[in-house]
Amino acid sequence: MNSQHALTELMEIYGALFTRSEIGIRGGDVSKTKPALLQNMYKERNWHGYPTFLSSVWRDVDGVHGWGEAVDQILFKKGGYMRQPLHPLHLWTLSTAWPWMGVGMYLDWRYTNRDDGKIHRTPGIHKDIHQGGERSRPLRWVAWTLNSNGDLATLKEIQGASQTRRYFFYQSNEDGKFYNAGLGRQYSLSAIMEVWNRLNEIDD
Ligand SMILES: [Zn+2]
Repeated sequence: MNSQHALTELMEIYGALFTRSEIGIRGGDVSKTKPALLQNMYKERNWHGYPTFLSSVWRDVDGVHGWGEAVDQILFKKGGYMRQPLHPLHLWTLSTAWPWMGVGMYLDWRYTNRDDGKIHRTPGIHKDIHQGGERSRPLRWVAWTLNSNGDLATLKEIQGASQTRRYFFYQSNEDGKFYNAGLGRQYSLSAIMEVWNRLNEIDD
């Protein structure tokens, strides 16, 4: 079955949980998106029911997005679309409960809030159905950005001209902690939530 037909069928079953134009954000192409990804996106959204912004699906890159196997999302509280993003612990728990092969949470994304019209920090989530081979799967990770001093980067630093770099922390299947070998640092999930609290403090 091709992707266009798969999407039409999903809309008939579940309603238009994701429209063609939402999937087409930033040059996205429904026909290059794998039917199995569309199906998993629809089933998951139907299960959790949280308002969801798609920030990228297929895009012209080498990797899981370029293979039509990945989606990037921001989830909001019910009744709070583009106003109240889910807390990262909630986002992580939901996203890792559903059968995805790859789940990566980012603490350095931003969105324009509909109440004040300003850009705010938000957790964002990458989800994919890649089966491994070229990229190790299953895989879980969390990422955030540091400034040139190695401190947590503020939203202003991320948006501005200052030098910043995103670091990835991969979850161990053994102790559940998140590791960055280059930095030689490890975080438990609750330590990552402290990082999130700290980020919100320094953004103010
Ligand atoms: Zn992604």
